[in-house]
Amino acid sequence: VVSDSIPKQAEENLRSPICCIMGHVDTGKTKLLDCIRGTNVQEGEAGGITQQIGATYFPAENIRERTKELKADAKLNVPGLLVIDTPGHESFTNLRSRGSGLCDIAILVVDIMHGLEPQTIESLNLLRMRNTEFIVALNKVDRLYAWKAQRNAPIRKTLKQQSKDVQNEFDRRLIEVITQFKEQGLNTELYYKNKDMGETFNIVPTSAISGEGIPDLLLLLIQWSQKTMIEKLTFRNEVQCTVLEVKVIEGHGTTIDVVLVNGVLHEGDQIVVCGLQGPIVTTIRALLTPHPMKELRVKVWFCVLPFCRPFPFSLFFLCSSYVEYL
Ligand code: GDP
Repeated sequence: VVSDSIPKQAEENLRSPICCIMGHVDTGKTKLLDCIRGTNVQEGEAGGITQQIGATYFPAENIRERTKELKADAKLNVPGLLVIDTPGHESFTNLRSRGSGLCDIAILVVDIMHGLEPQTIESLNLLRMRNTEFIVALNKVDRLYAWKAQRNAPIRKTLKQQSKDVQNEFDRRLIEVITQFKEQGLNTELYYKNKDMGETFNIVPTSAISGEGIPDLLLLLIQWSQKTMIEKLTFRNEVQCTVLEVKVIEGHGTTIDVVLVNGVLHEGDQIVVCGLQGPIVTTIRALLTPHPMKELRVKVWFCVLPFCRPFPFSLFFLCSSYVEYL
């Protein structure tokens, strides 16, 4: 579990890890996020493709609740987890690489029925290029023939209760995926059998339909972030902010969607952002953050305006923020 050697001060000053979901189209990235969040964005999308970068903030209490069946006496030192949902379609390579540059840790989704696919390998290469930690979600286990689903169960519990045939089929497909990763020069292993975390990447079997394995995935994301990137996650009071998108919202004017990784922004602060014709110097007119557990594409930011001043510190530096400028 989490190291006891973390200095007291660091524990109190940790920011939320930023996590992105990557993988081939149709592996279940959006559905996984929906499942964690308990909403249904995937079905509302045109053609089921995530067309823009969305993000969701999961507070630690929510993660604690979701993982309690695992009985891990893990201390959650981080205040939460911010998940960026990157698009999986081939034409969004640019956006996808943007997402991966921003994140501390990634979930690489692989469909257990299909194994590694072209964009899985592309995502893998992006992650390796940027030295980003990641966890493999081996998704759609419920599609194994004769699988008996148990809603939101930890994966070991549900695997134990499957028939011998299902377990054998699971093992066969798992080994196939591990072999495919090996062909890409990467060691992977089921997370609870992994004796060499750090060198060998973790695989968490999941089902975004039944929620099986989701508690395992959430807990591992938090534990692994806390274990390996304390320094990176220690909050610093210098502004580090990544722009995801610029758009015009009726009644609000030009807005930029940003993820504020470190530091504090205030209304009235002068900021400089890159423009096509050179630097844009402007003033922040309003800061808007989404509610926890709601995805940014869902139009919730209007109702959080009252939070803006004075800004709750914890909400502020951990959540994605909307910055509106003139
Ligand atoms: P994305 O393109 O990676 O975001 O994939 P989606 O989340 O849109 O999912 C693609 C399709 O696979 C949809 O029809 C989902 O309902 C389905 N799907 C996703 N996850 C699972 C799963 O765990 N089990 C099953 N049976 N279907 C899934």
